[in-house]
Amino acid sequence: MLNFEYYNPTRISFGEGKVASLDKLIPQSAKVLILLGGGSAKRTGTLDEVKQALGQRTFLEFNGIEPNPTYETLMQAVEVVKQEKIDFLLAVGGGSVIDGTKFVAAAALYDGEPWDILLTGAKHVHAAVPFGTVLTLPATGSEMNSGSVITRKSIHAKLPFMHPTVYPQFSVLDPTKTYSLPERQVANGIVDAFVHITEQYLTYPVHAAVQDRYAEGLLQTLIELGPQIISDTENYEVRSNFMWVATQALNGLIGSGVPHDWATHMIGHELTALHDIDHARTLAIVLPSLLQVKKDKKHAKLLQFAERVWHITNGSEEQRIEEAIEKTRAFFESLGVGTRFGDYDLDASHIPALVAQLEAHGMVALGEHQDIDLNTAQQILEGAL
Ligand code: NAP
Ligand code: FE
Repeated sequence: MLNFEYYNPTRISFGEGKVASLDKLIPQSAKVLILLGGGSAKRTGTLDEVKQALGQRTFLEFNGIEPNPTYETLMQAVEVVKQEKIDFLLAVGGGSVIDGTKFVAAAALYDGEPWDILLTGAKHVHAAVPFGTVLTLPATGSEMNSGSVITRKSIHAKLPFMHPTVYPQFSVLDPTKTYSLPERQVANGIVDAFVHITEQYLTYPVHAAVQDRYAEGLLQTLIELGPQIISDTENYEVRSNFMWVATQALNGLIGSGVPHDWATHMIGHELTALHDIDHARTLAIVLPSLLQVKKDKKHAKLLQFAERVWHITNGSEEQRIEEAIEKTRAFFESLGVGTRFGDYDLDASHIPALVAQLEAHGMVALGEHQDIDLNTAQQILEGAL
């Protein structure tokens, strides 16, 4: 196991009716800005519930954070925070609203041009406005981590940052809030959580027995419950497990003491930046091909994945690994998530621009051993045609 520090300050308030606990979680004297997406929280009644829980507190609303939240929109929220002297942010929505809120929290207290936060790995961030979240879409884990991914539309850039000051103080997870999700977003959530786990589990050479078993349990839960998560839209137990798996997939625990890959995410970000493909769908395109290209290096871990997650015990080692990769692809496809360029009207002619984007963003040494250079990234993209 590698050395690690594990600290996660986010309080989780889990269960039906837990939105009411906002009254205890937010200081009485706070001046709150509620940050929202394109309207789902209003339509579903979650926003009314939130407002009721805020009681006598002063609050304002900021609407319109888009999927793949943009710098351009978020800077308008930063202005509101500064002008109105807001001292608490409340994100109500999915990963995009939460990621966007993290950026606003850091940018509002940043000396200088806030886009630099994305360019410098948040090196110069020292403080952030405190915030909490009400999660309405299990997928990203953003509700219990310190990461955020921001898009700058004008230059087609989608870049991540991480900083300890942008852990949410709390996140409210009410599984009934997921009942209104369209099937496409539920499928996206399953795939995003699955890939978060594999990016921390299908790495080498460390054998961290506890993290491995934990990651395998999370993957198996997604595989076993996947069809029901999609079809049984108001099953409280199923949705509870889905919500908690997605949070655990990226709250730092399974990632402690092990090497991280993240190449699938970084290559996927370029597919979103250039072609506006949903985040999770970009991962479904990249991951099976990446595993093919890296299968020799990841051999031992892929064998373990085949046996313990997919219960494949017959055939040569090579055949078992092939079958595990194919089952992973088939799992994504079974959720209605395409895994090939053609599923998104893309072809080989789109690859050079994607590789150029990776180069422009310094994504030239990806993977847990920084050995995915631009040639390897190109090979991975070609494998997804
Ligand atoms: P999302 O972009 O937050 O939301 C997708 C859509 O779902 C939106 O149109 C939203 O509508 C709708 N929606 C959300 N909750 C709903 C509900 N309960 N009922 C009906 N519709 C609902 O999706 P996401 O997958 O959670 O977030 C994706 C973003 O997170 C990407 O930018 C990705 O790069 C990033 N990400 C972050 C991390 C991290 O660790 N921070 C990890 C992975 C990915 P409204 O806009 O109307 O609310
Ligand atoms: Fe993700």
